[in-house]
Amino acid sequence: MRLNPDRCKGCVNCTKRCPTEAIRIRDGKALITESRCIDCGECIRRCPSHAKTATTDELSQLAFFQYNIALPAPALYAQFNPDTSIESILCGLLKLGFDEVFEVAQGAEIVSLAIRDYLKRDDVKKPAISSACPAVVRLIQVRFPELIDNLIPIDAPVEVAARIVRGERSRDLKLEPEQIGIWFITPCPAKMTSVKQPLGSEKSNLTGAIAMSQIYGDLLKVLPSAQEKVDCRRASWSGVGWAMAGGETTAVGTVINTLVVHEIHNVADVLEQVALGKLKNIDYIEVLACAGGCIGGPLTVENRFVAEHRMRQRIRQMREDEAKQEKRPPQDYREVELGVAERRAIEPRPVMRLDEDIFKALYKVELMEKTLQKLPGLDCGSCGSPNCKALAEDIAQGRASETDCVFKLREKVRDLAWEMVDLAGKLPPSLHKDSEED
Ligand code: SF4
Ligand code: SF4
Repeated sequence: MRLNPDRCKGCVNCTKRCPTEAIRIRDGKALITESRCIDCGECIRRCPSHAKTATTDELSQLAFFQYNIALPAPALYAQFNPDTSIESILCGLLKLGFDEVFEVAQGAEIVSLAIRDYLKRDDVKKPAISSACPAVVRLIQVRFPELIDNLIPIDAPVEVAARIVRGERSRDLKLEPEQIGIWFITPCPAKMTSVKQPLGSEKSNLTGAIAMSQIYGDLLKVLPSAQEKVDCRRASWSGVGWAMAGGETTAVGTVINTLVVHEIHNVADVLEQVALGKLKNIDYIEVLACAGGCIGGPLTVENRFVAEHRMRQRIRQMREDEAKQEKRPPQDYREVELGVAERRAIEPRPVMRLDEDIFKALYKVELMEKTLQKLPGLDCGSCGSPNCKALAEDIAQGRASETDCVFKLREKVRDLAWEMVDLAGKLPPSLHKDSEED
């Protein structure tokens, strides 16, 4: 996540909406505490000045690899009118310089089957929480580490897709895995970060991630006007449906007691309930950081309601078409490495702690509570911290002072003014009153 300081007006919009309170305004500009950032992209959406951006890989990087494969997220299809077939979009990607395309939706199909079986196990901690959205996994690491054991220990569809295609191509083309560039066409910055800092595994199978918004214009220009064929196995509607909130649950099927939650603040509210021991009657929660699911990602180009409408039309058509075709046997996911067994435990990120030293932490808690009582409790954000509690925490950490609060500052100025008036009336005896009148 990057800030263009020339554009930032210090308006506090992003500060107040960040779900992990990672942003402060200092010297009139927004500052992100990286260790707290979960890459949800909420600050990109909320900034009226477009000062926040996500760093992405670029098409020019394809030149460094002998063979390049594009892995389009299904949300890419929702950026185009349903008249533009998925086939055309995949052809367009090839024209942009990729040697091959492999739909992430295929990985989603496999993961759906694996989740279905995982949920039948007796040792599953309920409610099981989907781990497909990396921003949500990071939110759990940062704010709800007690829920890490509830996360479903199966890799996200994009990782599974990348693992399959990297293995197959290095075998078929007799190339070293590092000679193959595998690029995720991503709707969100959290998935970019998970390439560089994978969750639950040592190394990602992806080479990089390219923002949908970055290639959209070029893709539009090269879309084939006539129908062209792509020589690859195509994903079914159930994998493509993962692009929308509820799509994962539909694809997993058979599970009765599920809850679908989207938009990061709703997700945080529900996770808070789970952490309090509520919602134990629910088997499985599908959680997505973006409103509407991946189609609402901050690196997409289309309005999310329009995108959802298009996606529904596309899926309806795909279901009808697939019903007319011979039923394809489901892929046996047990042949695919899903990362279940060797998955490195997802570690908590205790960045919300006040101090490593318990005594210092207790002292800071006390100081924080005392300071909080003195603050007005309006949560106006004009101090540069998201709310009064966060300012009290910043003061306890020595990163802010009470006079950063405009109300406290006004009080101080008023007290000072009264003191000056008072002092003015107390002339030293050596000065004669008449000399004052003169
Ligand atoms: S990306 Fe999300 S977590 Fe990171 S600073 Fe922005 S709003 Fe906060
Ligand atoms: S929303 Fe944040 S980054 Fe954008 S102008 Fe306001 S303070 Fe700056």
